[in-house]
Amino acid sequence: MATLKISARVNRIAAASAIAFTIALGTSGAVDAQPRASAEAHGEEADLPVLPFTVVNAYDPPAKNWLAGHRGIDVEARVGQKVQAPHESLVHFAGVVANRPVLTLKLTNGDLVSFEPVDPQVTTGERVARGEVVGKIAREGQEHCVEASCLHIGLRRGGEYLNPLILWREVRPKIILLPPL
Ligand SMILES: [Zn+2]
Repeated sequence: MATLKISARVNRIAAASAIAFTIALGTSGAVDAQPRASAEAHGEEADLPVLPFTVVNAYDPPAKNWLAGHRGIDVEARVGQKVQAPHESLVHFAGVVANRPVLTLKLTNGDLVSFEPVDPQVTTGERVARGEVVGKIAREGQEHCVEASCLHIGLRRGGEYLNPLILWREVRPKIILLPPL
């Protein structure tokens, strides 16, 4: 294997403008058992939370804070699949928000990374290591993705939402744009 495929579909903008991304990390062994990439503002490697890491809904922030948008990314995930911490972090929140089980990790730089729906295997205040299994994809709250089950990942830095893909920044330059679906 050693080839990681990441595809993204921007289905919240318009079907006609849907874009697919594919990331190939090559066969150098960089994505063997524990795929890692450098992360912004960390100076250390980050683990991918689920494998394979296939983005099915892209980050699509609203033009204004009060408008609807997609303040995160959705990654394909099976109910029951394990979720790994991308970095060493502190469990900031593990509980239910609007009927969705949410797990939020606070990274050492203060970033808040949220995963939902996830049945946590850790509790608030607990310290977790990079790559540690922190929960499993929950069945409840799966109405977020229409076509298949998924994991929503959100990133907040200084109270602002950012594209979570920056956590895996080294992965992004290798994105190849494919023709619209
Ligand atoms: Zn989402």
